[in-house]
Amino acid sequence: MNQYGVAHVRFLQKIMSKSFMYGSEVKEYFEKCLNASNIEPPDDLKEGLFEFIKAIKLNIMKLNYDIERSVCEKTGRSCYVFCCKKESFKDTIKPELRQFLTAIINQIVDNNGRLGNIAISNIGNSFNEYKLSAGECDGLCREFIKSGWLIDDDNCGVVLSPRALIELKDDLKDRNVPDCNGCKTICVLGDSCQHCETKMHFRCAKKLFGGDNGKCPNCSADWIFS
Ligand SMILES: [Zn+2]
Ligand SMILES: [Zn+2]
Repeated sequence: MNQYGVAHVRFLQKIMSKSFMYGSEVKEYFEKCLNASNIEPPDDLKEGLFEFIKAIKLNIMKLNYDIERSVCEKTGRSCYVFCCKKESFKDTIKPELRQFLTAIINQIVDNNGRLGNIAISNIGNSFNEYKLSAGECDGLCREFIKSGWLIDDDNCGVVLSPRALIELKDDLKDRNVPDCNGCKTICVLGDSCQHCETKMHFRCAKKLFGGDNGKCPNCSADWIFS
């Protein structure tokens, strides 16, 4: 099973098309791929999946791609992300779309991780050369969601996807996006302390405080959940 073969290619195509997959989807699709290639599932599915993905990673790393484990900031669910180690959307999408997506991402960062539909329309409307109607903005946002850069925020707007968080990590650091005080990974969508610079993902604050009201781990001020 650990020999790179059709099952691996099938899995790779799936995760490439989706950009990221939640853990449960990955397990389900792993079994499907084995089944379709008439490969006996391993006794230890978890270990088998680890080896299966390791074989794919070895094959795509030479091309500067990777599959990384991450956690979605919005849902708090663990996921696997297909990402490029060398370039980001800045190198691969059309200039007019790049300008729009960059502006959306910058405003998401400035707005504590979320951007509403009206703010998105305002961005499109503010462009001189490529002015976008509200309908066009909405259509493009759907495309960005489909290609795995953004995640739909319950039809109210968008947040950054796990893929964006990984591929844009250096840019986000340059924009002074802090690391989460809990899991120590970059934190765009989360709650900030009212008194110091501390920021935490919702899931990390919940884990730390066990559902009760807590104190900031840095300055001990009351932690206010949004
Ligand atoms: Zn965290
Ligand atoms: Zn604090």
